[in-house]
Amino acid sequence: MSETLANLLKETRTFPPPAAIAAAANVTDAAYQEAADDRLAFWETQARRLEWTKPWDQVLDWSNPPFAKWFVGGELNVAWNCLDRHVAAGNGGKVAIHWEGEPGDTRTITYDDLLKSVSQAANYLTGLGVVAGDRVAIYLPMIPEAAVAMLACARLGATHSVVFGGFSADSLSNRINDATAKVVITADGGYRRGKPSGLKSIVDEALQSTPSVEHVLVVRRTGQDVAWGEKDLWWHETVEQASTEHEAQAFDAEHPLFILYTSGTTAKPKGILHTSGGYLTQAAYTHHAVFDLKPETDVYWCTADIGWVTGHSYIVYGPLANGATQVMYEGTPDTPSKSRFWEIVDRYKVSILYTAPTLIRTMMKWGADIPAGFDLSSLRILGSVGEPINPEAWMWYRETIGHNNTPVVDTWWQTETGAIMISPLPGVTAAKPGSAMTPLPGIVADVVDDQGKSVPDGGGGYLVLREPWPSMLRTIWGDDNRFVETYWSRFDGMYFAGDGAKKDDDGHIWLLGRVDDVMLVSGHNISTTEVESALVSHPSVAEAAVVGATDPTTGQAIVAFTIPRGNVDTAGDAGEALIQELRNHVAKTLGPIAKPRQIMLVAELPKTRSGKIMRRLLRDVAEHRSLGDVTTLQDSTVMDLIANGMKDSKSDD
Ligand code: ATP
Ligand code: MG
Repeated sequence: MSETLANLLKETRTFPPPAAIAAAANVTDAAYQEAADDRLAFWETQARRLEWTKPWDQVLDWSNPPFAKWFVGGELNVAWNCLDRHVAAGNGGKVAIHWEGEPGDTRTITYDDLLKSVSQAANYLTGLGVVAGDRVAIYLPMIPEAAVAMLACARLGATHSVVFGGFSADSLSNRINDATAKVVITADGGYRRGKPSGLKSIVDEALQSTPSVEHVLVVRRTGQDVAWGEKDLWWHETVEQASTEHEAQAFDAEHPLFILYTSGTTAKPKGILHTSGGYLTQAAYTHHAVFDLKPETDVYWCTADIGWVTGHSYIVYGPLANGATQVMYEGTPDTPSKSRFWEIVDRYKVSILYTAPTLIRTMMKWGADIPAGFDLSSLRILGSVGEPINPEAWMWYRETIGHNNTPVVDTWWQTETGAIMISPLPGVTAAKPGSAMTPLPGIVADVVDDQGKSVPDGGGGYLVLREPWPSMLRTIWGDDNRFVETYWSRFDGMYFAGDGAKKDDDGHIWLLGRVDDVMLVSGHNISTTEVESALVSHPSVAEAAVVGATDPTTGQAIVAFTIPRGNVDTAGDAGEALIQELRNHVAKTLGPIAKPRQIMLVAELPKTRSGKIMRRLLRDVAEHRSLGDVTTLQDSTVMDLIANGMKDSKSDD
């Protein structure tokens, strides 16, 4: 039988934790053994990091798989755990959020302030008739009110559905209707790339076809003119006038907390449902373990948008449950200049930074001299999420941003998993650049072949989860069948995540991209990730995306789209020479089987709004088809740029 997925890339570098971080780490090696000895008892211990109004009777009810119940019979209030208990412990004066708007305005919000705002919103929403179990859609820019609105829903037991502020009226109305939301919380607009963008106008358009919506609460952010209808209410005239006292009521551990639609790289968006006790337990534990958060001294910054699951688990619920002080930034990394992120790190003395490979590669393209102009010495831990991080991008992140001694934690997880599942621990793991390394304590992940059999070390295949975990999705909203079919039917008794992975010779896990993207070249299954990583390991390359295009001789042939680094000359013959050099470089790094048939030098790549490369569209270009659906593209002009501006080379060997 041929291999499920080829293992071509060899990486020998490892980076053990710095002694100081290892010595003071929140979580040590012992956690793995503890969880292996008794997984459920381990998760009970983690659940006790929260305060429960009523203890659970049973840790896990898995009698009706794949429908799990965690902490059965337990009761807690999620918002109370994120706010009131810190205030009650005397930490009300502590900064929860250093917020920075794109135009440069700032707000400093303490736990006291946040609790008051959330109480006001909870009181006003109650007045509007919102009760536990109702759905509330949130369509906001990255302003503190986004976190306030989410926590107010959590406090009332209302289920929030946050829709990323870049989505169209159509996407918004589909999501509102799927969840039959009663209230929409939005803003007049937000700032992106130096300009106020309209949000309220998009809500107005969406509301033409959303019969369930009774009220629209509008935060004034930009002050732009907005149309006003009878359902509309200004946040500052209503919420901000409400009482700042609100008593939180406890809800069942399995009470729905939020619905979040996956970003839609692959198919029709799915409304992923998360519940309360298990979700908060794992979000809080992983934030504590993977980022080694010291709430008294660390300043934490996650650059994700609140509209993605990363923003839910690692801006709102995990960090606030842990009493963190964090930075929240409204805008883009290049406004007003390409040094904006490093100014922020320098100004707030950020010590933990969590961002995405797309950003790291963009920073690589812009050049190391930009971060070099700032004091980044406060950084002690760096995290990555969203896509496989190429080893060279990982190295660049560590060396250029992390002054060559910060651990880099590459965290694998999904909207569906709710929290981090596979990642190094910064005080324990000797990390390898590009590898997510090891399932966290309490998580049972594996790589299996077509038949669902565990592959040996050195082999590649499908990434699966063998045991339920506390923050797992409970279903797809309104569609239990789709839940079972999508995630639990490929392999018996296992959750299949859609991703390919391999185990290296030491058994460490490397993500290889989505199995749908795997290329079949002359009978070999080659992952997009490995070829992309080989390209990025060339000093002239900042970013690469590869796809398999139909080929008469090899079945599929590798076509690569490559963004050169900022200082690289690609005019005329120089570009042609670079292309040949890159093809040979890949052949040398991975073997002749992986040599791209064709490489195009491009200025941009098509990405989803969460920053993931959309290979589907590149496949259309590579096969000279007209483009498929481009509505989830971050920037729809990118495809024109690629089609018109590319430097193309077809091989003759
Ligand atoms: P859709 O499921 O609608 O296509 P999506 O999968 O892009 O959307 P998310 O849940 O935000 O939505 O992304 C999860 C996916 O991101 C994972 O399945 C994996 O493919 C990728 N991913 C996330 N973190 C990592 C990582 N550290 N390494 C490799 N891949 C990652
Ligand atoms: Mg997905």
